[in-house]
Amino acid sequence: MPDNMSRYNQMCKKLKQAGYKLTPQRLTILKILSERKDHPNPDSIYEAIQKKLPTTSPATVYKTLIVLKKLNEVLEIQYSNESNRYDGINPFPHPHIYCKKCKKFSDLDLLAYNELLEDVKMKTGFEIHSLNLLIEGICPYCQNIEII
Ligand SMILES: [Zn+2]
Ligand SMILES: [Zn+2]
Repeated sequence: MPDNMSRYNQMCKKLKQAGYKLTPQRLTILKILSERKDHPNPDSIYEAIQKKLPTTSPATVYKTLIVLKKLNEVLEIQYSNESNRYDGINPFPHPHIYCKKCKKFSDLDLLAYNELLEDVKMKTGFEIHSLNLLIEGICPYCQNIEII
């Protein structure tokens, strides 16, 4: 997995190549996306940028996310019960696990994932572009809280 700085530089490069201006607002959003492992939703990105650049509007956050998505520089995880989550650290499709209680959204390192893709390829002959795997449940931490 690439480090935060190289993800940041890569996102800057892609935006610039696509003809977008690298405004301080956009750069700050890229910075947040390249550092946050918690798969932030637009609201929490907005909250974070507010602390640095208070004049930024929520629309700027949304628009930047749409552009990054179009450039394949952010992975959008659509989640019906809540707002979408975004992964700027690893923009390629990968499995996630979500705790319904503490709302923690994490990457799921799954050995069987590649096997699954191979299996699908073999059985269908498809060239696979995306596979959305989201496992929901209650994390061990939250389970303990419930017991107490
Ligand atoms: Zn939890
Ligand atoms: Zn992820």
